[in-house]
This record gives sequence, C-alpha cells and structure tokens, in this order.
Amino acid sequence: MLQHKHAPWRAETKRSLRSGMIGVVALAACLGHAIPTTAQAQARPGEAGTAYKGMPSLAPIGARVDQNLPVPSSEVGPAVDPAKGYRLQELGRGLYMVTDNAYQSIFLTHETGVIVVDAPPSLAPRLKAAIAEVSSKPITHVVYSHAHVDHAGGVGSLGGRPVIIAHEETKRLLARAKDPNRPLPTVTFKDRYTLKAGGQVLELSYHGVAHQPGNIFIYAPEQKTLMVVDVVFPGWMPWRRFALAQDVPGYFEQVAQIAKMPFETFVGGHVSRVGTRADVVTQLEFMNDVKAAAANALKTTAFGAEMNPVDQSNPWAGFDNYIDRVVVQCVNTVSPKWQPRLAGYDVYIWDQCFAMEQSLRID
Ligand SMILES: [Zn+2]
Repeated sequence: MLQHKHAPWRAETKRSLRSGMIGVVALAACLGHAIPTTAQAQARPGEAGTAYKGMPSLAPIGARVDQNLPVPSSEVGPAVDPAKGYRLQELGRGLYMVTDNAYQSIFLTHETGVIVVDAPPSLAPRLKAAIAEVSSKPITHVVYSHAHVDHAGGVGSLGGRPVIIAHEETKRLLARAKDPNRPLPTVTFKDRYTLKAGGQVLELSYHGVAHQPGNIFIYAPEQKTLMVVDVVFPGWMPWRRFALAQDVPGYFEQVAQIAKMPFETFVGGHVSRVGTRADVVTQLEFMNDVKAAAANALKTTAFGAEMNPVDQSNPWAGFDNYIDRVVVQCVNTVSPKWQPRLAGYDVYIWDQCFAMEQSLRID
C-alpha cells in the first residue's frame, strides 16, 4: 500500500538513517562487507521505502495532509442560516430542495399533502420545519432513493403513516437491515412507477446496479427536475471510489444515461447546490479521462519493476507494486486537466484511480 510514503516523519527518519549509515559503512568497509546503499535497503521489512518514480505531489491514501486544496468559491454554495440549519430552494411548481450543504432531500407539495424523497438522519430533524414554511399539509408519501442509512435513516422519525415507495431491491436490503429508522416500503416496483398525487407527478424508474441495487431515478416532469442520489456530484470530485459504486461499469453507464435525460435541474443528494446538464457532462468527461488513463497505465506498466528481488516469490507484493505504479501514472495523467476543475479533487483522486484500475482488470 501507499500509506506513509509522504508521512512527515519520513524525511527526518531518512536523515537520521543516513547519518547512522555513515558509521555502519565505515565499520563495514573495515570488515570488508558490501553494504546496501539504497534507501529501500534501509527500510525494515514492511515499512515504507523510497517513493515510486514520478510520485505525484498530492498526498496518497493514508498520508495526513496539513491543508487540502482550496474549494473554489463557486462550489462553497449559498450559506445555510445557522438558526434554521437548512436552506430551502424552490425548483418549480411546488417542488423544493432542502439542504444542510452536505445532504439534500426534495419534497413536492400537492392538494392534500406532501411527498418527501429521502430523509437523511442529519437533515430529518429539520425537514418538517422546512416543509412547514410552504405547506401545512401532512406527509402523505415517502420515496426512498435507495436503502443506504445516510439518506434513508431519518424516515422513521418523520411520523404519521405515509405510503412508502421504493424499488423492490431496496425493500430486500431494508428487510435485511432490520432498522426501525428505515421502515419497510409499503409499495414496491421493478422497472417503473408513476406516483400521482393531486396534480403532481413523480416518475420513478430503475436502471440497474451502479451505486447500490435498488437506487432509482426520480423525475418530476413538470418541474424538469431529476434526482439520482450518490452518482453525480455537481462541481465536485465524486465521493471516493466512484461514490462506492457497487458496479463500476454500471456506474459509468448510469452517468451516461443521466446525461441523456430531459432535465433542466439535477439533484444529486449531496453538496451544497443543485446541478445542471453541464455538471453531469463534466463528471462523465472526468470519469472517461480516468478510465483512459488507467487503461493506458495498465498496458504500459511493467510488472515487477522497482521491486525488491527478495519479494519475487510474493505475488501479493508483486501485484501491490504493479497496481501502485499504475495508479501513480493514472493520477499524474489526469491531474493537470482536472485538478483546477473539480472541488475536492485532491481528496479522492487516488481512490478513483485505484477503483478504476481494479474495475478494468477484473470486471
Ligand atoms: Zn448511498
């Protein structure tokens, strides 16, 4: 693994090792012994040795950083009123987005009530206050975008007896989770479901496994708003390992599919703002660049180079060395273009390249 290679103590350790080595070399010269002079030989087995050739300056996984790259002001987002703890944004006739600048829910008001999509535990305690700003009607329906607790775990606290709608895979995963904060759906579907309440419509559809089985597209046709959670991150580097996509090729297909949908506003479930088609196209372009860089690195990296010959009988070590160097090349290839364009680029670029090389090798 790449841990510790840029750890602050390394330079210090290397310096003291080097001064210590002078005495050892002098002694060994007297005794007629050959002395290994590379830093690799200085490190004890299992400890970090010298960095790989062309190591990027962005800290690898496991290394502490003193300060991350600054987030562009355009991606810091409109402030959240600290007294409220949320920001409410109208997206079109009766459709609202609620955010704490980290998580996002939407709700849709209709003649006799309100439809809520997702209730992240961090946001759920304030969701009713947000709804009360624009409607005094009860929550009649809840839609789960997917089963993950960080988006669904506040549904239990909303109270009432709403109709709960989700994909059948989400029901299966929630039945397994046995979490009272994520009550089981009362209505499930396989491919499509049209939710009509009063004069409002939400079109729910399933497009296969990407982030998690059961993760659906939620489209409000009149408001031309599409919500897909944990897949596209407007203005930002996707969360680590392509947002923990359970199927990386499926994830790539799904982002391409989102780019073709007829929306004007995109809600991703995270970050401070809603997105546009341009945000989706930008993320797809970034992903395709990572894919091309990792594919090229897999082809052009020699197995076993920069490796201690002592480890040649250890296949795990051989693959780790190869994969690390593929990832180093991948990070170096995509950084000049994308580092200035995506907020949080430095935080997860190593994760994306690791996930990409793995998917290309085994999927
Ligand atoms: Zn998720």
